[in-house]
Amino acid sequence: MAIDDASRVRVEDVGKRYDSDQGPVQALEGVSFEVEPGEFVCLVGPSGSGKTTLFRVVAGLERPTSGTVYLDDDPVTEPNADMGIVFQEYHLFPWRTVRGNVGFGLEKGGVPADERERRVQELIDLVGLAEFEGSYPKELSGGMKQRVGLARALAVDPALLLMDEPFGAVDAQTKEMLQDELLDIWGRTGKTVLFVTHDIEEAVKLADRVVVMDADPGRVSEIVEIDVPRPRSRTDDGFGEHYERILDLIRD
Ligand code: ADP
Ligand code: MG
Repeated sequence: MAIDDASRVRVEDVGKRYDSDQGPVQALEGVSFEVEPGEFVCLVGPSGSGKTTLFRVVAGLERPTSGTVYLDDDPVTEPNADMGIVFQEYHLFPWRTVRGNVGFGLEKGGVPADERERRVQELIDLVGLAEFEGSYPKELSGGMKQRVGLARALAVDPALLLMDEPFGAVDAQTKEMLQDELLDIWGRTGKTVLFVTHDIEEAVKLADRVVVMDADPGRVSEIVEIDVPRPRSRTDDGFGEHYERILDLIRD
């Protein structure tokens, strides 16, 4: 897991229109920004500002109606093994144990059993689930399920980690722990991360840069650089200023 494995993401003039029963919805319009290799970028914005739509377009799960997303120099047109994806609602396989869920992508990728075992063990240790490796998702708390989701996404050693409100459904204390673990993993692996959240504090705590979105139509209102040294806490110099700045942008 070396830093030179990290990808660059280039979102170029992306638009997405949905045609619903209530008429057309311009979910995204003229969205452009880049995520540098190894950079941690958060996408924040009010509900309905197109964050999930953009996440799905970057993931190749949805085609834009205009513009292009590039992963390094390749246009993204379908889901790609170089991306590790973490959803808010976990999307774990209920019939598979923790081990089985974490190993899923490696099985699909035809990784030999002994190497797979070793890699799965490493990841289960990394996310602190060694005691639960034989458990099923229904036996786990929300925070534990999201650890499984993260380990599963990391298993294939993706060049980009894409996350849509991954800690949105866990309690505040667990959320802080998961944020710290994610930063630790990011620091050790050097992955490029694109992380969607509606939680401004979370964005200021995690990101190198925050892409702030506006609704109706969904577009980039501003990109805010967070130049506060890590690890960060709310009381650090500059933390509150960045928070207020983003809050103002979202309120307007
Ligand atoms: P966010 O994640 O920021 O809350 P979404 O990307 O989910 O925003 O939604 C952006 C806009 O697109 C909203 O107005 C939403 O209602 C609309 N939208 C999202 N998905 C669909 C869909 N499949 N069909 C029609 N409209 C959609
Ligand atoms: Mg969303």
